[in-house]
Amino acid sequence: ESISDLLDRLSAIVPDYPAEGISFKDLTPVFADPAGLRRIVDEVIAPFAGQFDVIAGLEARGFVMAAAAAYATGTGMITIRKAGKLPRPVHRDEYTLEYGTGTLELHRDDVAPGTRVLILDDVLATGGTVGSAARLLEKVGAKVVGVGVVLELAGLGGREKLAGLKVHSLQLV
Ligand code: IMP
Repeated sequence: ESISDLLDRLSAIVPDYPAEGISFKDLTPVFADPAGLRRIVDEVIAPFAGQFDVIAGLEARGFVMAAAAAYATGTGMITIRKAGKLPRPVHRDEYTLEYGTGTLELHRDDVAPGTRVLILDDVLATGGTVGSAARLLEKVGAKVVGVGVVLELAGLGGREKLAGLKVHSLQLV
């Protein structure tokens, strides 16, 4: 089975969620499937083999992928979180969402300068979230070696916004 067929079979499409007119791609059934979880994790990290020291997961579905990928590759995992969740001193980055703003935070001392970091999340849409994470990692002197996502939503400009970063997606939808 190709990765695209697997994702078509297991992903759920939720019309009008979280708002009217939005077609939400729900990957939780892929996470719940034993073969599905392994396939997406293995395939998302494959092009970056040997190129990273640690994996950053973006709250919350990025945590699922990053933890599994870090365990599989014998690396560590960094949590980049929504505002107010991390207990120690943080760097903060505010970014624009379709409506309003979002804020991500990273502990100031979780990543040493020069560390090679792979960013993982479930879905790339406008690229605002991944762009914010990349800025936070750059603030602490880390080197972002790439971005891996399962789904890339077409026509929202995410890949263009992340120009300069190597973006690997498993399916363009
Ligand atoms: P962006 O910042 O516009 O690229 O949106 C990406 C962020 O929003 C990611 O953290 C995704 O988890 C979430 N997201 C946006 N659209 C979807 C979707 O259709 N399904 C699941 N997550 C989504």
